[in-house]
Amino acid sequence: MSGSTAAPSRLSLSELAPHTFQSEIRAMTTECDRMGGINLAQGVCDTPVPAVVEAAAMEAMRQGHNIYTRCDGNDRLRTAIARKQQRDYGLDYDPDREVMVTSGATAGLHVALLALLNPGDEVVLFEPFYGYHVNAIKSVRAVPVVVPLAPPDWQLDTDALRAAITPRTRAILLNTPANPSGKIFTRVELDQVAALCLDRDLFLITDEIYEYFVYEGAEHICPAALPGMRERTIVISGFSKTYSVTGWRVGYMAADARWMPAMSHFHDLVYVCSPAPLQHGVAAGLEQLPAAYYQQIATEHQSKRERLAAALRAAGMEPHIPPGAYYILASSDHLPGKTAPEKARNLMARTGVASVAGTAFFRPGRGENLLRFCFAKQDHHLNEACERLKRN
Ligand code: PLP
Repeated sequence: MSGSTAAPSRLSLSELAPHTFQSEIRAMTTECDRMGGINLAQGVCDTPVPAVVEAAAMEAMRQGHNIYTRCDGNDRLRTAIARKQQRDYGLDYDPDREVMVTSGATAGLHVALLALLNPGDEVVLFEPFYGYHVNAIKSVRAVPVVVPLAPPDWQLDTDALRAAITPRTRAILLNTPANPSGKIFTRVELDQVAALCLDRDLFLITDEIYEYFVYEGAEHICPAALPGMRERTIVISGFSKTYSVTGWRVGYMAADARWMPAMSHFHDLVYVCSPAPLQHGVAAGLEQLPAAYYQQIATEHQSKRERLAAALRAAGMEPHIPPGAYYILASSDHLPGKTAPEKARNLMARTGVASVAGTAFFRPGRGENLLRFCFAKQDHHLNEACERLKRN
């Protein structure tokens, strides 16, 4: 009818839903696959799964462990995680009430944010950051507040951190060892973060997924072990990286019993439980793998780090040497292209090696002169990538 205005359609996305979907990492992966290149863009470690972990998962399937577990995981794995936290960090958690098995660290963070934050609450995190952290905070209608770390060593500026805390701040999110910088927060830095959490009454949410990827004798400190921090720290970690099982979706949280029921509630709603037989596989790893296993993955990855750093340097891309995790941020100053994504694409076109534009880890306008390369790759892939970079 002329003159009438159509009612707005009710078939629309939510205010939260992104209207553009652009994952540079995914785009680079697709392009890399298309040209048969070597993917150092994704943080998927393709190194072998420990035999004991793989065998126990398969055995669990045969034995009929194929039905739902408790939404916070089976007894065996919760107990093994509690023992691990005691063995590694001297932290006591009640496996029945203070440990939750999650569908990866990713689920752990999401349910922690759902359980602890209200819309509009602010969460402080550090730059360079892992994009999932920022998006997970936004996805619960909370507000990420970014505090830059100072290159080249990504040191903490305590004054900047203090200045970022407002009456709306509810939590600090800390990733150590960090993706993409490899930064390991030192005891002094963690003491400063802890002092602020205690003074301003904040939660500390930690992502410690790279806890065993520490090089040259560096020490990973679990911030929950600092005086006064246990009750306010939500420890998040997992097995994706330690046992090379990124597709299994088994991670965990350890936290004071006050917070667990609400976090379990949300884990149940979204995931029901982490895959049942795979929980057994991971539990067998925790029960049976000796300390030497964890030292060996660190030694192997340190050697991979050295090889990749040397190749990047030879190719004119000065690397920031990461003390932990398994990524290198390298300078892209001498590569052709105006923006970091352009430089990453040019490098891939010339060498067939995929990397991630540094801009994925910074606020807009920053990170243009960096590319991130993952070195958690099988030796023949990594060595081939290094050769191609050197020939570039
Ligand atoms: N946290 C960080 C900092 C990561 O880099 C990654 C993967 O790249 C994850 C979490 C994902 O962990 P999960 O596979 O346990 O969800």
